[in-house]
This record gives sequence, structure tokens and C-alpha cells, in this order.
Amino acid sequence: MVRAMPVTKRHQQTPRKSKVAKTAPERTCIGCRTRRPTADLVRFGSADGHLKIGQTVSGRGAWLCAETVDQCFETARKRNAVVRALRQDVTDAQLDQLAEALSDTKDSG
Ligand SMILES: [Zn+2]
Repeated sequence: MVRAMPVTKRHQQTPRKSKVAKTAPERTCIGCRTRRPTADLVRFGSADGHLKIGQTVSGRGAWLCAETVDQCFETARKRNAVVRALRQDVTDAQLDQLAEALSDTKDSG
């Protein structure tokens, strides 16, 4: 007795996922105007009359490249982009404070 074993090639078809990149939220840096995923950016906004860093700061926020935060902030400052982004007056003192806070974020990275 010959048992004919059907030779079946098991073609395992792995469904090829077409590159569906999870669309990471992107924002534009107010300094160099580069679009980046928010993970690469630092957000700040104004709360209680102070400029605060954090994704959860309520109200209008603005974004700066985390990597070149000092440069981008300077550029934004010169262009008055901070005021425009937050749609409110920002004093020099507030900007100085923010600049300091921003450079702090770099150290703790
Ligand atoms: Zn930038």
C-alpha cells in the first residue's frame, strides 16, 4: 500500500503591511519653521502670566526644536514669533525667564 502524501507547500503568507507609519503629530518650530514630530520639540505656553515649558500648559502653546532650542528660541525672539504664536504680549523678562528654563531642559536630557 502506497500512501501518497500530497505534497503541500505551506505558503505562509504574511500579510505585508504597507508602510503605514503612525502619523505622529507634527508641529512647526516657531524659530526655524521646521516641521517635526512633537517628540523632537519643546512646547511652552503661558500660564498665570508666566511662560512655562510643558506639553500640558494650557492655552496657546508654541514649539521649539529640542535639539537646537537655544538657537531656535533666539531666532523666534528676534522675529517676534513668540508673541505671534501665543497671541499675547510677552515681556523681555518673561522671555529671559523662558530662555533660562529652556537651557535647563537641555541639561536634564
Ligand atoms: Zn527650530
